[in-house]
Amino acid sequence: MANYFSNFFHALKSLLIGMKTTLKIFFRKKTTERYPEKRGRLHVSERYRGRLEMIHTPDNHHFCVACGICQMNCPNGTLNVESRMETDAQGRKTRVLTAYRYDLGRCLFCELCVRSCPHHAIRFTNAYENAVFTRAKLLLTLNRPGSSLKPKEESPAAPATPDAPSGDAPRTAEAGKTAASPGANPTER
Ligand code: SF4
Ligand code: SF4
Repeated sequence: MANYFSNFFHALKSLLIGMKTTLKIFFRKKTTERYPEKRGRLHVSERYRGRLEMIHTPDNHHFCVACGICQMNCPNGTLNVESRMETDAQGRKTRVLTAYRYDLGRCLFCELCVRSCPHHAIRFTNAYENAVFTRAKLLLTLNRPGSSLKPKEESPAAPATPDAPSGDAPRTAEAGKTAASPGANPTER
């Protein structure tokens, strides 16, 4: 008999603890968002890595010198930096970006490309509506049509990125060397 009442009160105590938790959560401020009803008004964390983009100025300049460091650091072959050599008015040969290819379908969102770019030419946006019906639509060209390298002096501020995870230090252009350097609208191919 004593065992019966012991079990009864133990079960009752468990039930009340559960109900207390339920009531506490019930009256807490809601954190879930209604989608798609609230599309455009959703709170999306700034740190959310939705997709990569190339930074462009209002006058359609970018900051990419086509060095290929981001491509070299990408662990998944997601990036393809296409360029050509040009000779300027002083007769100097310079590398010019022709196409910056990004395969959103392969991206791991590790951000190693952003952290390794010495010119802060790329960044992640928190755009979250990336669903498409065919994989081909995930192949993006990030440099805008008609854009060109920004002439000297203007450079975007270095984004405040958290420390790189251990063992993920990006490589520089020199093989085998490591560096701790920090770190629009894409058009479809
Ligand atoms: S590392 Fe930066 S500057 Fe170099 S190719 Fe990549 S985006 Fe362009
Ligand atoms: S986030 Fe990672 S996987 Fe995606 S393009 Fe950059 S380096 Fe490659």
